[in-house]
Amino acid sequence: MKNHELGRSFLVRLTKEGDLINQLTKFTKDQGIRTGTIQVIGAVTAGCFGYYDQVKREYRYLKKEEHLEIASCIGNISILNGQPMIHAHIVFSDENGSTYGGHLAEGTIIFAGEAFIQELKGPERVRSNDETTGLHLW
Ligand code: ZN
Repeated sequence: MKNHELGRSFLVRLTKEGDLINQLTKFTKDQGIRTGTIQVIGAVTAGCFGYYDQVKREYRYLKKEEHLEIASCIGNISILNGQPMIHAHIVFSDENGSTYGGHLAEGTIIFAGEAFIQELKGPERVRSNDETTGLHLW
């Protein structure tokens, strides 16, 4: 397979009270990025993340209505249904330093956030339904 090469790099300040994954997706589409990686640190006023039940083949979502740090959030940008789609996982930490996390979902609301987005040039990664997992994979 052909290698990817580095494209444009962006450091992005995220908007307070905005939804994390929606902001990242909008930026990606606005910039025409179709393949890449992302990293985010910051803080949120609410977190929402999923756990994939491998037996039932469905996501279960947890919602935390509290002030949390984004201890880590990493992900990638690829193509689903012809559009750029962000797949990211996130780890939150609370006031005691306890952590939890999972698959980043809508409902994670930014207090302050700094994102690094790295565009990759080369072959696009296109997601399609994978029957062995029930997920949309490359
Ligand atoms: Zn995931």
